Amino acid sequence: MPEIHEARRARLAGLVAARGADAALITRLVNVRYLTGLASSNAALLVRADGTAVLATDGRYAGTATRVCPELECVIDRATAGVLAGRVTGRLAFEAHEVTVEARDALAGEPDAPELVPLGHAVEELRMVKDEEEIVLLAEACAITDQAFDAVLPTIGPGVAEREIAIALDRAMVDLGADRPAFATIVASGPNGAIPHHVPSERAIERGDLVTMDFGALRGGYHADMTRTVAIGEAGAWEREIYELVAAAQAAGVAAARPDAVTKEVDAAARGVIEAAGHGDDFPHGLGHGVGLEIHEAPLMGYDKTGKLMDRVPITVEPGVYVAGRGGVRIEDTLVVRADGPELLTKTTKDLLVI
Ligand code: ZN
Ligand code: ZN
Repeated sequence: MPEIHEARRARLAGLVAARGADAALITRLVNVRYLTGLASSNAALLVRADGTAVLATDGRYAGTATRVCPELECVIDRATAGVLAGRVTGRLAFEAHEVTVEARDALAGEPDAPELVPLGHAVEELRMVKDEEEIVLLAEACAITDQAFDAVLPTIGPGVAEREIAIALDRAMVDLGADRPAFATIVASGPNGAIPHHVPSERAIERGDLVTMDFGALRGGYHADMTRTVAIGEAGAWEREIYELVAAAQAAGVAAARPDAVTKEVDAAARGVIEAAGHGDDFPHGLGHGVGLEIHEAPLMGYDKTGKLMDRVPITVEPGVYVAGRGGVRIEDTLVVRADGPELLTKTTKDLLVI
């Protein structure tokens, strides 16, 4: 897709020019991938204000770089950032949130070094609004996630350990076409459900437990993210009550996810439902986050976050209620903000499943 990457670089070049820099040095690998298509563990990209660009990577990626981005001049050198900075005179914008102090000092210490100025999170901001091609990959990742849930659900029951369920979900996602799991799968049963990021343990599931599963597939570099909580054998009154509460909060958050909505207010739409039921202190994290080439990316959605949603921004909506010693519920979808209403990419039912 060289045209897509060329268009992305053109947008960045416009920002570079607007900031009065002569070029931008991109060293965050995920941003290099976004702008070139090259997934590499050692690469940097120079994008000049006139739109021309030079890629640098090492010999391990030379063949892949030629195949993936034949339109780009490519320098093969292990010192990727240094060799590109050496080609710039004037002002060079760099990714200050990524470059170490040591690397910055090395760049600035070269003879005839350009003047280094911060680029800010320009590429991350460009990445927020997705191309339809990116949304297709995200939708595929989410479909695999839904299918993996369906495949593993019948194997969950009393006596099965959290770890076994996590491994089964990971294996099902890969069998169904995932590159790999998008992040470390969470399975939290019974009292462990009160820990939002519980690491799956040897705890065996018991009748009456709530079991929270937070997992997703990675496909073509794009990350799916879904959480469902199910009840084992039976659901008590307390379990049903917090489940219905979280489901209502999640629906309110999804409904509020519109273009131009302020992220803080989307968070508040869901959080208000939980607070009104007296569980405000039991929801200690933000409502959700952007997803794409990273599992957590802009926009972050929390009570203290600024910014607005836009058309074609994929996000998660994932409220939870966690009660120490007792358990918890989280329900999470990946969706795309659209002018005509949110497009859910994860489609697994949010009715309480008692299995
Ligand atoms: Zn998740
Ligand atoms: Zn998430």
